[in-house]
Amino acid sequence: MTTLNITLLAGGVGGAKAAEGLAKSHYADSTKIIGNIADDDEFHGLWVSPDIDTLIYSLGDQIDRQQGWGRKHETHQVLSELNALGQDTWMTLGDLDLATHIYRTNLKHQGVSASEITQRLAKRHGVTLPILLPTDDVVKTRVKTSKGWLSFQEFFVREHCQLDVIDIEYQGIESAKPTQAALDQIANSDVIIIAPSNPIVSIGAILAVPEIQQAIEHSGAYVIAVSPLIGGKTVKGPADKMLESAGKSIDSKGIYSCYYTFLNAMVIDEEDQQDTTWLKEQGLDVLVTPTLMKNPEEKTDLMSRVVEFALASQKQRAA
Ligand code: GDP
Ligand code: CA
Repeated sequence: MTTLNITLLAGGVGGAKAAEGLAKSHYADSTKIIGNIADDDEFHGLWVSPDIDTLIYSLGDQIDRQQGWGRKHETHQVLSELNALGQDTWMTLGDLDLATHIYRTNLKHQGVSASEITQRLAKRHGVTLPILLPTDDVVKTRVKTSKGWLSFQEFFVREHCQLDVIDIEYQGIESAKPTQAALDQIANSDVIIIAPSNPIVSIGAILAVPEIQQAIEHSGAYVIAVSPLIGGKTVKGPADKMLESAGKSIDSKGIYSCYYTFLNAMVIDEEDQQDTTWLKEQGLDVLVTPTLMKNPEEKTDLMSRVVEFALASQKQRAA
């Protein structure tokens, strides 16, 4: 019997919850993550990679659990001083967190790839699930609003996602080269899980890296997406506004339409049960279950059931 190979496509907070669930499940040794680098930005001359750091800090149990991002036991002395110096400090970067950004920037200047930097940071935090990047090139999500084009962090953090979204682009995506590690991982996957992450920015930016979506379509893996919506609403963040701007409905159908070219199954919350029939009519297997992950047990429980459902459904299809 060949060993099981699972890929998790993950954004930040929703992605990290799914990653933590898998890390504590029976499937930890079989799982690799592909993370999102398109929310990256520069602050105070430092390269910040919020979704990757959220994954590393969460899996390394260094995350501020209240916020869902940033380091626990954090202080903000450097930021206060930068503020006193008249710098923009709307992006909250704590002192411990800044060490990560200094380290990443320094290695980048030395020519070390983003994938390698990620591995070294993960090792520092005792993270055992491999975190792969879709590309080592720079891709930047830009959001068009009534205030013009903003960087993702300007929209998300500075403007608190308050502005209407007119359009979204991934700057640099055409010339981005996929990493061989991500392509190989996808090609060798038995199951690909799409975390309950923002389908337009977090997952959309991974899929938009040239060859990544095709690799998923051609992989032969069973692809299952956990919906980031509960009762037709986002748990947190602007996924609803972004679905709307992309002309998609804010429900399971809208999520399906982001992934329909490769999707085999969807996991939806009990509150969205009414979407089951429609999804099954599209040829999907559907798991209806509580999907809100508030604590370690709920994360492990949900993600274990997602894998078990995928493996059982895959077997049934093959029979
Ligand atoms: P970000 O990069 O930090 O914005 O995080 P992601 O893109 O990974 O995830 C954002 C999405 O996660 C939002 O649309 C939320 O609705 C969703 N989300 C967060 N927590 C949960 C949860 O416990 N269950 C489900 N189903 N979705 C969640
Ligand atoms: Ca993000």
